[in-house]
Amino acid sequence: MDALTDRRSRPTVRKFIPVAEPVFAGNEKRYVLDCLDTTWISSNGKYIDEFEKQFANYIGVKHAISVCNGTVALHVALLALGVKPGDEVIVPTLTYIATANSVSYCGAKPVFVDSEMNCWNIDPLRIEEKITPRTKGIIVVHLFGHPVDMEPIEDIAARYGLFILEDAAEAHGAEYKGRKVGSLGIAATFSFYGNKIITSGEGGMIVTNDDQLASMMRQIKGQGQDFHHRYWFPIIGYNYRMTNIQAAIGLAQLEKIDWHIERRRQVAHWYQERLDELEGVKYQPELPWAKNVYWMNCLVLAEHHRIDRDSLIRELANRGIETRPFFYSMHALPPYRSMEALPHFPVADYLSKMGLNLPSSAKLTETEVDLIVSNLKELIN
Ligand SMILES: *Cc1c(COP(=O)(O)O)cnc(C)c1O
Repeated sequence: MDALTDRRSRPTVRKFIPVAEPVFAGNEKRYVLDCLDTTWISSNGKYIDEFEKQFANYIGVKHAISVCNGTVALHVALLALGVKPGDEVIVPTLTYIATANSVSYCGAKPVFVDSEMNCWNIDPLRIEEKITPRTKGIIVVHLFGHPVDMEPIEDIAARYGLFILEDAAEAHGAEYKGRKVGSLGIAATFSFYGNKIITSGEGGMIVTNDDQLASMMRQIKGQGQDFHHRYWFPIIGYNYRMTNIQAAIGLAQLEKIDWHIERRRQVAHWYQERLDELEGVKYQPELPWAKNVYWMNCLVLAEHHRIDRDSLIRELANRGIETRPFFYSMHALPPYRSMEALPHFPVADYLSKMGLNLPSSAKLTETEVDLIVSNLKELIN
């Protein structure tokens, strides 16, 4: 039993329960000190190589390319996939802004699609109506850790000759029909920000089975330098590299990823048991073909409640329980507001108005979940 699962080593209920927090349960400290001791602190070193190798292995793909965060992972992937000014890329409107921004960084236009009600991901039935001759591809986002229903989207992509890029920033280890997310499209991106399933502080990874794409991605993230010809830059690239220190933390986290995911699924199970009976709220689903990794535990309120979502968040905060609202939909945000002539995204609008993320740390105890749910019940009913 390690210190984290030994309840005697810390109080079972904390005065402040955060919505998310990193948990260091393995070799993080040892590996970071090793970087300092050996002076390998920049973007070369054994932890970079090992983290990439082990991550590719974990997802079950040929290549993993480390970068400095999950946003630039998307940017590099889109550049390597050939997205250019004037192109259009389909993205769900309900996502974190990095998904849409990465398309804008390429000078292309993100075209938004509504969510579906079952698992809150991009609605496959609303994609085709958004395809134009300029459409290059589709970014699917495995929102909050639940995989996207891929088959209908694979079918559309094949018929129109579009790429599928997975934004798996929130879903390390999630599975669609027994296949790990990250291995479902032509390429996929992950984030290791402090609140993600596993973290490296800041950090990101791009994965793909395609040799040519992989080598292009490495060139783009490394200033565009030719691998065989030093200081020869055939293209304009970027410095998007991860450091050995970040990789040291990431590798230590990856070594314990099964533990992190098990803990998250356990926490979700505790919520589910207690919230299923609560009337007028919907706890986050796990569809029969899915393995949800519960990056965030989510609750969606019914339309008519004694308390509205934002007051609920405030009241819980007063009681030391941190929660947060769902993301705003992209079509509602200033940079993207005017891009839709007739904005019509009823499901995403509903979710982003009524949804909240509950505390979701791998550190949560059953007693803390009890406390959170009893406060929820008191405020909602
Ligand atoms: C976190 C996140 C990103 C961006 O990752 P960073 O590492 O914070 O840049 C991209 N997409 C989604 C869906 C995310 O949740």
